[in-house]
Amino acid sequence: MRRFFSPLSSALNDNPHHRRLTIGLVVLLLASGVTAYSIAPLSPADSTLPVRQLIEAVTPTATTAPIDQEAVVPMVLYRSEFTRTSDSANTLLQRLGVSDNAATKFLVNDKASRTLLAGTPGKFVSIEADGQQRLLRLKALWPNADGVQFSRLVVERGANGYTSRVEMEQLQSSVRLASATVRNSLNAAAAQAKLPGTIATQLVSVYSRVADFRDVLRAGDSFRVVYEILEADGEVLRVGKLLGAEFVKKDRRYQVMWFEQAGQKGGFYTLDGQSIDRKAMKLPLDASVSSDYGMRIHPVFGKPKTHEGIDFAVASGTPIRSAADGIVSFAGWQKGYGKFVLVKHRDQKATAYAHLSRIQVRKGQRVVLGELLGSVGQTGTATGPNLHFEYLVKDRPQDPDNIARQPADISISSTNSSEFKRMALAMRRHLEVAPLVAMTTVE
Ligand SMILES: [Zn+2]
Repeated sequence: MRRFFSPLSSALNDNPHHRRLTIGLVVLLLASGVTAYSIAPLSPADSTLPVRQLIEAVTPTATTAPIDQEAVVPMVLYRSEFTRTSDSANTLLQRLGVSDNAATKFLVNDKASRTLLAGTPGKFVSIEADGQQRLLRLKALWPNADGVQFSRLVVERGANGYTSRVEMEQLQSSVRLASATVRNSLNAAAAQAKLPGTIATQLVSVYSRVADFRDVLRAGDSFRVVYEILEADGEVLRVGKLLGAEFVKKDRRYQVMWFEQAGQKGGFYTLDGQSIDRKAMKLPLDASVSSDYGMRIHPVFGKPKTHEGIDFAVASGTPIRSAADGIVSFAGWQKGYGKFVLVKHRDQKATAYAHLSRIQVRKGQRVVLGELLGSVGQTGTATGPNLHFEYLVKDRPQDPDNIARQPADISISSTNSSEFKRMALAMRRHLEVAPLVAMTTVE
């Protein structure tokens, strides 16, 4: 009997070579210590998958009762569907091509069978029916709430009518690879690559964190994806987590991987171990604050005025470093501020640096956290060499103390570093072969 795979897996499994490759990759990933991930249920779109149907002649076996020579060859109809919110036993069986009152009645009255239409819809159901559209066997699969096991409901017709049973087993985790070249947008390309919705969302989110906010993917750029799926009896029941991704933008290549350190929240890292959660910012130099943020008597004008930043009174020439990754949006003279640098960061944040003696960046330049912007000086309205530093959110000054309180970058602990390296190596291999495996998925 020919196996029917759901569309998610068919692209990989239709070709025996691809199947072998997939299995090899699964082994790789398992060997590299991937364990549990948070899991998202199949998106609603997945429940509108086309019905798959196969009619097949059954070869009577020796134990089968002799059949009437005149009778047509017994036919067995195989169909599968996903349960819907609006389903009753009747509508579900109808959609599966079954017209069988006894079966409908059994599904309605049998306690185990009632679980099929209770709870979350989207359960995978496959049936076998005879030539008279009577139900011979029904199997339903759905993931359990723990995300580790699945339930299998089996309803079978025997000599004394229908029987049912529910079994529980471990979900099988495996990886899927995909790749695509962007024509319009990352979102459109993700759809073109037939990525499950939850994976596409994670991909867009990861890209926004890994790349500069100005670096939108454009036509000709590409991505590769490695993600987890959970299967039962060869059917994809759940889409797991995005495990890794590669983005190629002109000459830039970003590779990231999901990693979970023992006792810590998991996150995405570059393959050399840098967390991509760069929400953390750092103060521009390592010195104590000489003048706080807030209302104060202005040192030059002698009147109460809100101090919209903090000052560091340090020696002229002290290096000033960018508080976060970003783009220099101003570098030059600004009245009162003297030699002044403004850097825009992601999430509508910006940082400003005033009274510099020397500016070492230019407008439009991309800078990373800690990159040298210039040196402390006394230009503009200043009573002595100092760095006046501002932290802005949506163009409004905030207390830069908030930056100091933000958690530092999460780095890989030394106890986890060998495991991280092993996983990064496996991920690199996955990403290398992604375009080969995913060809059938994309076109
Ligand atoms: Zn100041």
